[in-house]
Amino acid sequence: MLRPRDAVRTLPEYHPPLAGRDGLRLDFNENTLGCSPRVLSRLQQIGPEELARYPERGAMEETVAEFLGVRAPELLLTNGVDEAIHLLCETYLEPGDEAVIVVPTYSMYRIYMIAAGAEVISVRSGDDFRFPTEDLCNRITPRTRLIAIANPNNPTGTIAPKEELLRITRCAPDSAVLMDEAYFEFCGQTLLAERREFTNLFVARTFSKAYGLAGLRIGALVGDAEQMRALRRVSSPYNVNAIALACLPEALGDQNYIQEYVDGVRESRGRLEQALEAAGIRFWPSEANFVLARVGQAPAFVEGMRRRGILVRDRSSDPGCEGCARITLGPREHTDRLLAALLETLEEIGAAQGATRP
Ligand code: PMP
Repeated sequence: MLRPRDAVRTLPEYHPPLAGRDGLRLDFNENTLGCSPRVLSRLQQIGPEELARYPERGAMEETVAEFLGVRAPELLLTNGVDEAIHLLCETYLEPGDEAVIVVPTYSMYRIYMIAAGAEVISVRSGDDFRFPTEDLCNRITPRTRLIAIANPNNPTGTIAPKEELLRITRCAPDSAVLMDEAYFEFCGQTLLAERREFTNLFVARTFSKAYGLAGLRIGALVGDAEQMRALRRVSSPYNVNAIALACLPEALGDQNYIQEYVDGVRESRGRLEQALEAAGIRFWPSEANFVLARVGQAPAFVEGMRRRGILVRDRSSDPGCEGCARITLGPREHTDRLLAALLETLEEIGAAQGATRP
């Protein structure tokens, strides 16, 4: 009988809610407004000939490399950061190798690491989700081949100081270190410049968040040119689709749009954090386009918000996130709706909690 590999059969299933997402979608950290109008008009020009051809990513790799201030051989366009994570696992992990993550964090690291047959070492973050530099360094062994770090982290929104991240990179010269900067635009901190000093450090970026192109599936991975050659061997030459490649110059060219969107999100973040503070709800100051808040009864909160037309994400089963929900931020008009629903829902579940008190 046909049997999937053991690593695949024992893989925990990951089921993000992908159907019936009606309402204001503040559950996936997407751009809530949509992409630049320049991208939309390019989309309308796409004709049958462009679709009939296999995509050619080479020229766009040069454009994105130039935009990021790196050399083209140091960059691979990917089908979102997800593919970059997958390719790193395929390139560096042998069955039985160790791969390290800091939890709570983005779910896909663990999934691709396990699928590659690696043993996943989960290091708990410190108080207030502080980056556990010391603990992480102590868990590095000669078998460690991949360390994946989201910075800012998801679902916490927290960020680790550059020096600590570089210390990890130095501590693990035989391990690939992925710096997943999916939320870079909302915080501005990057290790791209420092990356040049390390052959084991990779930086990933995406067009799914600030750029509003999650549906097109496009990201970029930057690393040492020789290491990137190995990754290219594993990657499909057609991993990024022609529509995404056609739209990319427009997306990159409209930096005003990105700046305005990011400014709006930052303002919204301040407003949400203030509202949570006033309501006495614990939250963790965020550097990304979302905030993690300890709302208490997370499922009731998510359901109350959903009834008010707003989707947010229950993160209460993530390590250290008991009672927590994650709320994505968009521009001012979406935050007006968010805050109105939030206050009503908090009152509602507060009343519900009150009713069960003796
Ligand atoms: N990394 C992190 C930290 C994320 O939160 C996400 C999306 N939730 C991704 C990567 C996936 O990004 P992409 O759409 O580029 O695959």
